[in-house]
Amino acid sequence: MESKRIEGLWDCAYCGNTGIKARYGECQQCGSPRGPETRFYLPDDLQGAVLTKEEAAKTTNEPDWMCSYCSTYNRSDATVCKGCGALKKEADGNYGTRHKLTGFSFWKK
Ligand SMILES: [Zn+2]
Ligand SMILES: [Zn+2]
Repeated sequence: MESKRIEGLWDCAYCGNTGIKARYGECQQCGSPRGPETRFYLPDDLQGAVLTKEEAAKTTNEPDWMCSYCSTYNRSDATVCKGCGALKKEADGNYGTRHKLTGFSFWKK
């Protein structure tokens, strides 16, 4: 059986915006990046959240990461920090590792 990838949702801890799609690394309302405490959850409409093949190809199972030097939030597919150029392998923390969703994957940009 083919496994489907489902896009989870998250809530902004800063402005209270809810139901932000996992593909967005920042709140669509206030622009705050989702932090390390962010927990993803499944939407009520599971069928509507199933990603197409094309969309699923843009996702990754690797969590996002935070630069140890400048605390910039980086996508999993970035090998160097977009803020200061430090290498990902020198980062000691990952964002989003607390998600508990089966079939959820992180969105690449
Ligand atoms: Zn917000
Ligand atoms: Zn950095």
